[in-house]
Amino acid sequence: MKRELLVATKNKKKLKEIKEILRGLGFKVTSIADYSGAPRIIENGKSFRENAIKKAVQIARFANKLTLGEDSGLCVDALSGAPGINSARFSGKNKSDRQNNLKLLKMLEGLPLKKRKAHYISAVALADKGGLFAVVEGSCSGFIGYDLKGGYGFGYDPLFIIPKYKKTFAELGSRVKHRMSHRFRALKKVKLRLAIYLKKNP
Ligand code: IMP
Repeated sequence: MKRELLVATKNKKKLKEIKEILRGLGFKVTSIADYSGAPRIIENGKSFRENAIKKAVQIARFANKLTLGEDSGLCVDALSGAPGINSARFSGKNKSDRQNNLKLLKMLEGLPLKKRKAHYISAVALADKGGLFAVVEGSCSGFIGYDLKGGYGFGYDPLFIIPKYKKTFAELGSRVKHRMSHRFRALKKVKLRLAIYLKKNP
C-alpha cells in the first residue's frame, strides 16, 4: 500500500500543482480538505520558511501523519520584495487573484520592463509526529508584464513573464511551468529528503 503524504493546504490549484510535480513518487498525496476539524493555520510568520514550518508541524501534530507544508509568493524588486509573504492577501482579505494582479499593475505603472524584475519563492517543510525534519526552498526569476495574459496556472501567473520564452506562466501552461517553477525546484529537493526519510522510517 502507498504511504500517505498529507499536504497542509486547502488551495486547490496549489494542491493540483504539488500532486502533478510529485506524481510517480509512490506516495498517496492527500490534503487537509480530506480531514474534518483540521486547525486553521495563522500565517503570521516573518518568512516563507516560518509559515511553511507552521503549516507542516501543526497539521502533522493534528493528523499524526507525514505532512508537507508549502508557503509561497511573489517578490517584486521595485517594491522591495512585496507582496512577498502577503501575496495571497495583497489587495485585502478574500480578494481574488485578479484583484491582486490589478493592484500590482497599478503599483508598477510607468516602469520599464528592466525595472519590473520579480521572483517567486516556494518554501516547503516536512514534518511527522516526531516534528519537523526538513525545510527546503526553490525560486524562479522573471518580469512583471504590462497586462494579464493566458489562462493557465493561478495567482500572479498571468503577469509573470519568463524571459526565455517572453511569455507568462499563464500562457505557457503546466508542462513548462513544472520544469522551472519555484515549486518544482523546492519539490525536487523534497523528493530527495523523502527518499532519506523512507530509508530511516521503512
Ligand atoms: P500561500 O497559500 O499563503 O502560500 O499563498 C500563496 C500565494 O502566492 C498565492 O495565493 C498566489 O497569490 C501567490 N503564488 C504562489 N505561488 C504561485 C504560483 O505558482 N503562481 C502564481 N501565484 C503564486
